[in-house]
Amino acid sequence: SLDWMTAEGEPQPSADLKPEIPHPARMYDYYLGGKDNFPADREAAEQVMALSPLVRISALANRSFLQRAVRHLAEAGVRQFLDVGTGIPTAGNTHEIARQVAPGARVAYLDNDPIVLVHGRALLAGAGEGGVSVIHADLREPKAILATPEVRELIELDQPVALLLFAILHFIDEADDPYEIVRTLVDALPSGSYLALSHGTADFSTPEQAAKGPAIYRNATAQLTMRTREQVLRFFEGLELVEPGLVTAPLWRPDEAPQDSDAQVGIWAGIGRKP
Ligand code: SAH
Repeated sequence: SLDWMTAEGEPQPSADLKPEIPHPARMYDYYLGGKDNFPADREAAEQVMALSPLVRISALANRSFLQRAVRHLAEAGVRQFLDVGTGIPTAGNTHEIARQVAPGARVAYLDNDPIVLVHGRALLAGAGEGGVSVIHADLREPKAILATPEVRELIELDQPVALLLFAILHFIDEADDPYEIVRTLVDALPSGSYLALSHGTADFSTPEQAAKGPAIYRNATAQLTMRTREQVLRFFEGLELVEPGLVTAPLWRPDEAPQDSDAQVGIWAGIGRKP
C-alpha cells in the first residue's frame, strides 16, 4: 500500500491498491499501453484483448474521442469540467487539452479507485497546477459529488459546466440506476452546460464476445454492463445532441479520414447540450 496526501497536503489513510484484484482503471491503462498496472490487471486485460483485436483499438479511440470532445467544449466556451471516472493519468489529460484552448479552465477529477488518486495527485502536485483537483468520489453517489467541498470550490453551478462521463457508465449496473444518476447531475447544472459521454457496447460483437467480456470483469472491482445504442441514447434525454449525434467514437468529428472499420468500434460517443 501507498501513502498519499490530499490536495491540501493532509495525510490520508494508506491507499489499499489491492494488487491481486483486477481494477478497471489499471486494465484500461494496460489497453492504452501504460505501465501503472499489476500482473492480475494484465492477465484479465489480456483475456479481454484475446476476444477481439478491437479492444485496444476501442480504448485508443475512446481516449482520442475524449480529447476531441474536451477541445470542442473548450472552444464552445466551457471553462469548468467535472470529469468523473478520470482514469490513471496518461498523455493528453482533460486539463491539458482544455488549457490549450482556455488557459484558465478548471477541472475537478473524480474517481473511486485509489490508484487514480495516487497518480493523479502526484502528477498535478508536480506540475504545481491550480484550478485542478483530484477527488475521491463514487459516481453512484451523485448528491454527495455535488456537495463535496472541493467540487464546490472549483465548479460554479451558475456557469456552464461540462459533465464528462467517458468510459465509466458501463461500470454502473442497472441496479444502481445509471439514468437517475446522470439526471441528478445534469439537473444541478445550468442551461448551456454539456454532457459528454462514451459507453462500451456489444452492438458489433459476436454473442460469444458479448458474453465473455463481462464474464472476465466479474472478478474485477467493477462489473461491466454493455448497452445498446438505444440505451445509451437515453442518457441524453432532455438534452440537444451536438452534431454528429451519437456515433461510434472514431466517427465523432474525426481529425483524420475515417476507415471502414470505424463504424464497428464498440464505443458509443456523444455530446449533449442542456437547453
Ligand atoms: N475517463 C477516462 C478513464 C476511463 S476508465 C477515459 O475515458 O479515458 C474508467 C474509470 O472509471 C476508472 O478509472 C475507474 O476507476 C472509474 N470508475 C469506475 N466505476 C466508478 C464509480 N462508481 N465511481 C467513480 N469512478 C469509477
